[in-house]
Amino acid sequence: MATFRACDSCRRRKRKCTWTPSADGCTPSLQSKDECAITHVRKLRVKSQKGSNRIAEYKSRIQRLETLLEEHSAT
Ligand SMILES: [Zn+2]
Repeated sequence: MATFRACDSCRRRKRKCTWTPSADGCTPSLQSKDECAITHVRKLRVKSQKGSNRIAEYKSRIQRLETLLEEHSAT
């Protein structure tokens, strides 16, 4: 699964957002002296992660209980 995470200015300008580990921002933003921020993406990610994580957690919990019950009733 490839997640494309571009900063706000790269999104707006539709350019490739590339990072170097030591830099303060992405390479295209530093070159054009734009502010490198990923506020929009971060917000969305946190929101969707919370919801889906909780549902997935409950689902796996229910499945675990179901298999436990099945094992108990079988023996
Ligand atoms: Zn960028």
